Amino acid sequence: MSTPDPRGLGPGAMLGILGGGQLARMMALAAADLGIRTHVFAPDADSPAFDIAARHTIGAYEDEAALASFADAVDLVTYEFENVPHATAAFLAARTPLHPGARALALTQDRLSEKSFVAGLGLAVAPFRAVDSLADLERAVAELGRPSVLKTRRFGYDGKGQVKIAPDTDLAEAYEAIGHFPAILEGFVAFSREVSVVAARNADSAFAAFDVCENEHRDHILAFTHVPARLGAATAAAAIEAARKIGEALGYIGVFAVEMFVVGEGEREEVIVNEIAPRVHNSGHWTSEGAETSQFHQHVRAVCGLPLGSTTRRGIVEMENLIGEAALRWREILAEPGAHLHLYGKRDARPGRKMGHVTRLKAER
Ligand code: AMP
Repeated sequence: MSTPDPRGLGPGAMLGILGGGQLARMMALAAADLGIRTHVFAPDADSPAFDIAARHTIGAYEDEAALASFADAVDLVTYEFENVPHATAAFLAARTPLHPGARALALTQDRLSEKSFVAGLGLAVAPFRAVDSLADLERAVAELGRPSVLKTRRFGYDGKGQVKIAPDTDLAEAYEAIGHFPAILEGFVAFSREVSVVAARNADSAFAAFDVCENEHRDHILAFTHVPARLGAATAAAAIEAARKIGEALGYIGVFAVEMFVVGEGEREEVIVNEIAPRVHNSGHWTSEGAETSQFHQHVRAVCGLPLGSTTRRGIVEMENLIGEAALRWREILAEPGAHLHLYGKRDARPGRKMGHVTRLKAER
């Protein structure tokens, strides 16, 4: 550990990262650019971030002895995934600064508390009801109608733990399909587009958002991000203001993403908040070449107490996720003018696995 400096951590500091996937890997690369070393803690010996980090620990998130030595060896801990167990976050936070904090984690791990929190800020969310039994589900469907979406409160990602309640869906089967876990039912939002705001906030309450981006999913996994999003200027400003309010209410430190649905057109166009991710986000990968500061550099700056960088966009940007065997096209992509290839160093190109991404930059017309 280095001596604390009130101006923030700088070169030579050791940043601890929980989780060893591609987000941790890109965070570690960004930290290295700033002369900051990283220590990655992850359970899997094959973690992509281990290739980059100065140090790593292979350990379970419940292993207190391993967590204690990790905390002693770093100046600060951050994480790449929102499902960090509460006990792990609390254990680490008692020993070393943890950014973003345990409150952001707790709120965003539970869709019911997250939706209630966002609605409490006066921001639009889909209508929702808590579902703890089949009887609750029947009542909620009677109130919100069909179609609607049943989601587990915890541990859902990329469309997992989610069932659409269509006109002919049997409710007992739907409740069975999500494993009888505590859930919420959401009214179906007939959106025209899905967008997100990736933003950062630091301990000085400085806030900086990247331009709103538009996300295209295939099989519930992000396939493309396009920036700027096709959105009226007032709607884009409202989306960024929503993110600012969320960041402020959480006293947030670090990069976060707010996923939103766009509904209505023209004067009636508005955004509805779907989900908050308390971490760097796949829909922010375009910033690596597409903005003056990448989301990964911005996250390192924010958590280390350093000034935030400029979020100015550098043209029209497209990000394509390379999923499964799509990554085998890497030679072709390398030959493509204006394409920037990022591979995550994963050996096995299994279907549905995020293997890398490409950003493509075009000059603004
Ligand atoms: P989530 O896990 O909440 O991010 O949802 C995954 C995807 O399901 C979203 O990106 C949407 O495409 C779709 N979805 C989720 N909630 C709703 C909703 N209330 N209405 C319509 N589509 C939804």
